[in-house]
Amino acid sequence: MFVYDLAVPPLPFAPRPFPDELLLSWTCRLAAANHVRLSSLFPELPAMSRYRLNCDPGQEIIARMAAMSRLPQSAVQSLLLPNQFPNLPLLTFLEIPKSPAVLGDENSSEYFPPPLCIDCAAEEEPFHRGLYWQAEAGLLTTLLCPRHGTQVGDACPGCDRGQLTVIWNNTYLIVRCLRCAWRPTPPPNGKLASTNHLGPLQLLFRLQRDIAVALRDQPPSHFWCGPITAVHFLRVVNDLYWLLRTPGLSARAGKKFTFTQDFTWTSFYREPRTLFTRTQYWSFCAWDSYSRAEVLVAIAAAMLGTQAFVTLGRRPYYLKPTANYPWDWILPQLRKACAQEFMRRVAEWPLAMRLPVTIATRELS
Ligand SMILES: [Zn+2]
Ligand SMILES: [Zn+2]
Repeated sequence: MFVYDLAVPPLPFAPRPFPDELLLSWTCRLAAANHVRLSSLFPELPAMSRYRLNCDPGQEIIARMAAMSRLPQSAVQSLLLPNQFPNLPLLTFLEIPKSPAVLGDENSSEYFPPPLCIDCAAEEEPFHRGLYWQAEAGLLTTLLCPRHGTQVGDACPGCDRGQLTVIWNNTYLIVRCLRCAWRPTPPPNGKLASTNHLGPLQLLFRLQRDIAVALRDQPPSHFWCGPITAVHFLRVVNDLYWLLRTPGLSARAGKKFTFTQDFTWTSFYREPRTLFTRTQYWSFCAWDSYSRAEVLVAIAAAMLGTQAFVTLGRRPYYLKPTANYPWDWILPQLRKACAQEFMRRVAEWPLAMRLPVTIATRELS
């Protein structure tokens, strides 16, 4: 038994959230079902980053959402990312930003939906299930569709100039282009073949998936270093993020950040500035998605060592993989204090991850 807040009138239509749904996904469906803009339903949302909304929109907004949709507040609370991913605090760079005004490449569209996967839209529409975003899509480390591994976005593939829009079709959400009326094509046989990516995109997809698994406190795949616990895996990812963000890493080349340089995930993206100069004053939540992808693929390559080249192919092409790659390349570049701190962290790593670092250290000394 719970009491409604009578000051907030309930909405005529209130689709129930799916248990694994992202909060923003459900609020988009809520607005669409009632044919109102998300910004008129919740005027404070456009000023809030999507990540903050999905993690901690504040008690007042939660109470209002619950009252509007005739749901207990606990049902809304359970959708928040920290409640769906109990290990979230272990990745310190996924911290919820204190000041909400810092936005990265998020569009400020008044519909405010997360980036769309047109494969997801095409798969669900014929079955009248409609589109929704799983919680995983709200993680800052999720850059590709968690189900298909495809690149997400809101540009229309039909006319190239229109922005895709979500609209309510009686009982579910569909995707359309309002400019050219493009609609997603249902896959033949009703099912899409899973995307088989190569190169950095595949590493990125595997890493984002295992990060999400580990954040749920389940053991990640054996791909990285054999069996590993969720906590150990996240510790290694967190330490590598710290390492790759250290300016000391590139002391010799000045304030450049060269290890990540060739880990861009698309061929067209070639920022003239290094990752370090692009991101040094920003927290991870304010980075553009290409920079986020760049550091994640670099983390994946550091975890896999020479094995990374099996997936990466030719990349990175600026050097020949050495036997102790990347540690024989990274370690000599570290300033003393940074190297000491790194070795202190490595001592906590599981053996399979620690070994390549210690072998490289021994051979260098
Ligand atoms: Zn998809
Ligand atoms: Zn279009």
